[in-house]
Amino acid sequence: MSSHQETLEFKSELRQVLNIITHSLYSHKEVFLRELISNASDAIDTVRFNSLSNEEMLEGNREWKIKLIPDTAAGTLTITDNGIGMSRETVVENLGTIARSGTKAFLESLKAAGSGERPELIGQFGVGFYSAFMVADRVTVLSRMAGDPTMGVRWESDGQGSFTVESVPKATRGTDIILHLKEDEKDFLEPWTLRRLVKQFSDFIEHPVVMDVEKENDKKEKEIVEETLNSRKALWLRSKADVTTEEYNAFYQQISGDFTEPAKVIHYTGEGTTEFKVLLFIPGHKPFDMQFGEPKYGPKLYIRRVLIMDHCEQLLPPYLRFVRGVVDSSDLPLNVSRELLQQNPLLERIQRNLVKSVLKALEEMKTSSPEAYSTFFKELGGVLKEGIATDHTNREQVADLMLYESINTESGKTTSLPEYVGAMPAEQKDIYYLTGENRALIEHAPTLEIFRSRGWDVILMTDPIDEFVLPSLHEYRGKHLKAADKGDLEGSDAIPEEEKKKFEGLFGYMKQTLPGIQEVRLSSRLKESASCLVSEEGALGANMERIMAKLGQAGKASERILELNGNHPVVQAVLALHAKAPDDPRCERVVRLLYEQAIIAEGSKLVDPQGFARRVNDLIARDLSDGTGAGM
Ligand code: ADP
Repeated sequence: MSSHQETLEFKSELRQVLNIITHSLYSHKEVFLRELISNASDAIDTVRFNSLSNEEMLEGNREWKIKLIPDTAAGTLTITDNGIGMSRETVVENLGTIARSGTKAFLESLKAAGSGERPELIGQFGVGFYSAFMVADRVTVLSRMAGDPTMGVRWESDGQGSFTVESVPKATRGTDIILHLKEDEKDFLEPWTLRRLVKQFSDFIEHPVVMDVEKENDKKEKEIVEETLNSRKALWLRSKADVTTEEYNAFYQQISGDFTEPAKVIHYTGEGTTEFKVLLFIPGHKPFDMQFGEPKYGPKLYIRRVLIMDHCEQLLPPYLRFVRGVVDSSDLPLNVSRELLQQNPLLERIQRNLVKSVLKALEEMKTSSPEAYSTFFKELGGVLKEGIATDHTNREQVADLMLYESINTESGKTTSLPEYVGAMPAEQKDIYYLTGENRALIEHAPTLEIFRSRGWDVILMTDPIDEFVLPSLHEYRGKHLKAADKGDLEGSDAIPEEEKKKFEGLFGYMKQTLPGIQEVRLSSRLKESASCLVSEEGALGANMERIMAKLGQAGKASERILELNGNHPVVQAVLALHAKAPDDPRCERVVRLLYEQAIIAEGSKLVDPQGFARRVNDLIARDLSDGTGAGM
């Protein structure tokens, strides 16, 4: 490797990020320290983990430490660690480009977000290292890889457009980040400022963050001692009674990058065949990284206090991917590869336990803080819902956690399946729902008239994922889930044969006239409206067809059933007209209008809206011209 100095350009995306960081994120500039300490801590975790299989790389130094060195004379603050370090290549790669796919999303969201939200973005996207340029006009990085004593690297930049790298000797393993503080940022050299910031942002970092300070000894002499600034408390190892809400909140914020409080804390020791400590958090809102792409999820996995993985996806199923936290196992083997570890059956056992605990915590939250739960559900209920389809063991518990609007709730208010079932009248056997795009479109659907008249509630499902989840939720607590607009309705009196006979001729004519209609029949659902469309039990249904069409999956539209209200005056009138004069053009017009109003009423789109308008206008014209309003 050559030791010559090179000047390299930052990649253009990175230049944009740097520009934003130095100019717009200024109001929370002190987070730079948290970011750099957190990088140092990660580097120590990495070397500690790698040394499990290669002890030599530690070079006899396993006294993990992050040291802050303020130098007033030089105007520099140095953050030094004895972590894994970087080679010349990795420095260029890590500090010269932003390889992360989230960067574009980050840039876009920064542009879109108001300045109040910006500090959150820094933490959540880990622009990490570059936040140094908020307080420094020049940053020097000296680093050397663990186990490679031959040569270190020196990287330097003013954060404008380029940086330099050269190979230099460095005695110790790890990284020094030297910040040449801007003229008006010299406050970051003050020991009390540094103490305060470490306490505020990095208190739970497991490795000691130290600083040399001048103290008087017993003999009143001044001497330099190394002070540890963070309390290094591994909260998950302590008992619940010893942890305050503030500590939980601060720890959650440190590991999640969230700036708000968690909605629920889950802290316990799992016992039985295996022992593990659990500290999990349910966020109150959708974590920022989940709004862009598919971030890694799963709690941090420690084995006897050694961090093994930042995100252990084997520990939680995807439908609980919003949960943040830590699991520390005493029984997993320490020195196996991460790949092998992920196949360890113990992880599955722990997962089962975590899922139960998270579902229980959500249930508690739903009962004891319904408002907080409702806020949580609005943002993350859609994710949780996937569990109904994917988690067969806990399907009903997940279903218990769902909130739905129904025809008996006010708009915006919700009910749940347990509440629904509890309120079912004795004669009602099944659970009824109607799916659609939004409440306003479906709550007045004619198919609901019979339910309203009987006083039966109908759940209104308006989240597209409901359609995919429902087949798995075929049954809930022994009751069938049935679409209000599908199949025959339980408890309806059979329509007398002679009544049906009367309509045979008209219905035959209608089937011929109307495209895509599989059957026309008398309805036992309709009370006020003249007509409605329903589907066969098990057919796709109107909402699902709309969703499939949006996904570009539109197949051949399934044939629908048109139901008519035999008591409605329009239906009566067309029955009479058709019996008397089947070729009267007014027959066709009325039949089409009955069909078209059923389409509109279920929230679907007309194929021929102009034709519909023409037919309505013909009627209006007649109505106005004869003045009586009685003509048809
Ligand atoms: P992040 O920490 O989110 O990955 P950063 O921009 O803060 O993003 O850092 C980029 C990369 O540079 C890190 O992923 C790491 O590989 C490397 N790095 C940063 N600081 C250190 C350090 N103190 N020791 C070793 N590597 C580091």
